[in-house]
Amino acid sequence: MGERENQLKYIEKCREIIAGKSREHGRALTYCVTTFGCQMNARDSEKLRGILEEIGFEKGGEEDSDLVLFNTCTVRDNADRKVYGRLGRLKEIKRNHPGMIIGVCGCMTQEKTAAAKVKDSYPFVDIIFGTHNVYALAQLLYEHLSKGERVISLLDEAKEIVESLPTDRKYGFKSGVNISYGCNNFCTYCIVPYVRGRERSRRASDILNEVKALAADGVMEIMLLGQNVNSYGQDFIKAGDSGVMSFPELLKRVSQVEGIERVRFMTSHPKDLSDELIDVIAENEKICSHVHLPLQSGSSRVLADMNRHYDKESYLALVKKLRDRIEDVAITTDIIVGYPGETEEDLEDTLDVIRQAGFENAFTFQYSKRTGTPAAARQDQIPQDVVTRRFDKVLKLVQDTAADRAKRLTGRVLKVLADEKNEKQEGYISGKLDNGFTVHFKGDENLIGKIVNVRLDECHGFYYMGSIAVN
Ligand code: SF4
Repeated sequence: MGERENQLKYIEKCREIIAGKSREHGRALTYCVTTFGCQMNARDSEKLRGILEEIGFEKGGEEDSDLVLFNTCTVRDNADRKVYGRLGRLKEIKRNHPGMIIGVCGCMTQEKTAAAKVKDSYPFVDIIFGTHNVYALAQLLYEHLSKGERVISLLDEAKEIVESLPTDRKYGFKSGVNISYGCNNFCTYCIVPYVRGRERSRRASDILNEVKALAADGVMEIMLLGQNVNSYGQDFIKAGDSGVMSFPELLKRVSQVEGIERVRFMTSHPKDLSDELIDVIAENEKICSHVHLPLQSGSSRVLADMNRHYDKESYLALVKKLRDRIEDVAITTDIIVGYPGETEEDLEDTLDVIRQAGFENAFTFQYSKRTGTPAAARQDQIPQDVVTRRFDKVLKLVQDTAADRAKRLTGRVLKVLADEKNEKQEGYISGKLDNGFTVHFKGDENLIGKIVNVRLDECHGFYYMGSIAVN
């Protein structure tokens, strides 16, 4: 029996138990999956929700559900702290709700210190598992339900990619699709390769079949997800498989699936971004003109130290190439401030790249020490007051340059995929431009999930206020 069939069997077994419990309680049992962190985790949570829905749970809130699952993140220290805080609150809630099942999974539990802390300091957590066995939720839940014991299943590496288990998508009209898992790059500050393992690509045929099924189900926008999409398939090539589809080819093929109107991708490592990829984006209207290109630092010295394999000049040359070849491309980035040993000159280089690149947006982070990474062991950590001062400087420049870039589109009529009701302004809808910017405009809820022509009337830095354009 394959792993998929094995898991479907456990879903069935759990379904019987949960149906029995629902009869006992005279109501449906509820669940809540709380997601911390990135798009990869958001996609994993859709899979976790899909399994729980298939078992027969109904959606509920974090405070009152029969099963609460935290899908955690550990890229920064404050992500860990958030989870501990929320677990502390659940302890109180569980006191008055003794049958409540609490689970913790995701990146945090793959990190040994954090896993030990969850195990030892939060004994009321019933199920603990990691990123390598997300697909096994039903099996672990069954073990807990049938034995009444705590279940801990943490694997050091993924055994296989389990395809086609149920998912519960947040949006009916757009979806993330994993193309690879894990990362081989070992940037010195980053915990991801340790908690998500080495890079494993999915077969192109499995990816395309998933996209076709999503399109048939009404999805029009696809976000291809990988820690480094540009190295997609390299693991197959290393294993001697020569007929591997490149990422640009895969991107093109996804955009050709009937019903798909927009394709995005995340994240692109600058060292691997090819001319072929730039051409595919430039030539294909359905591929969004948005490249998220993490800079991390503008200093060539720091970049070498971080093991990033590009320098200030080559990064800027890549930005220029993208801007020259792709009309209206939006380039967004990630920046770390306060990496160990960062000097004022290094900071000046970062500020210089921000000025020259003119990012449409930048996610700026204070360096966060992650146990087990080479950077965490360094003696030259930067004092917090210096990090804060540098961070404020970077943030201010990022905001100013991004606002300047955004202004250029004011007055244009552009296509917006209407995402959701604007909760803050009655009668308004929010949506996204092809380049990732948010637009709020007056409109009816039945526009949600449709692509609408919107005039960008006013630019407010990171978003626009618009109005539906009359043809
Ligand atoms: S490329 Fe570097 S920063 Fe990105 S996930 Fe891999 S190790 Fe982390």
